[in-house]
Amino acid sequence: MKTVQVRLLYPSNVKSADVSAVLKGISSLERFGVLIDDSPIDRNAIRPVRLGRYLRRIMEAEGPQTVDFKAFGVRLADIFAISNKDVLGFGLMVPELFLIDKDGKEQRPSIGAGRYNDVALLSLFGFAEIEEARMRLRAIEVAARHEAGHLFRKGHCTEPSCVMQEKPVRIESMIFKPEFCQTCKEQIEANVNLREYEINHLAGVG
Ligand SMILES: [Zn+2]
Ligand SMILES: [Zn+2]
Repeated sequence: MKTVQVRLLYPSNVKSADVSAVLKGISSLERFGVLIDDSPIDRNAIRPVRLGRYLRRIMEAEGPQTVDFKAFGVRLADIFAISNKDVLGFGLMVPELFLIDKDGKEQRPSIGAGRYNDVALLSLFGFAEIEEARMRLRAIEVAARHEAGHLFRKGHCTEPSCVMQEKPVRIESMIFKPEFCQTCKEQIEANVNLREYEINHLAGVG
């Protein structure tokens, strides 16, 4: 029986305190039965990861990166992969991250991104503006929880205290909404169970 798995990938030059904060955020998914592990980015670590090579390219770039998860080209490598790409990747990156909007046009800066059953990214760039070290790490942890949540929950939550609310303009205010609400917990749990069923019973899902 395969277990639903999320792997935190990080460049080797990222500080261990930052990696720990991200891991703490992602590890919230363990309560739903998700297996979490982490590794500096390398060939073996990315091999079973969905969009692993794409993640690697973004994470190893020096300058700002613009991401369009819908771009078809980036998916070919996975479609023709020999091995199953069942592990969902969570990429930690240092440079600034820009996202393409739903209409496919506008680029806007973002601290992170997460796509259902697919891939998540968090950029440390925006957290540099938080001067107090402990608050910065806490904000990184909560933001990581939010993006990891998107791996099993589509869209945002309207419950005011929920970590899955749309990200605020001032990212340090994220720390006041650190946890999943009951509705999100139930959705995530259901979607983790669904994914577990799919990776165990349906060939070619990935
Ligand atoms: Zn979000
Ligand atoms: Zn919620």
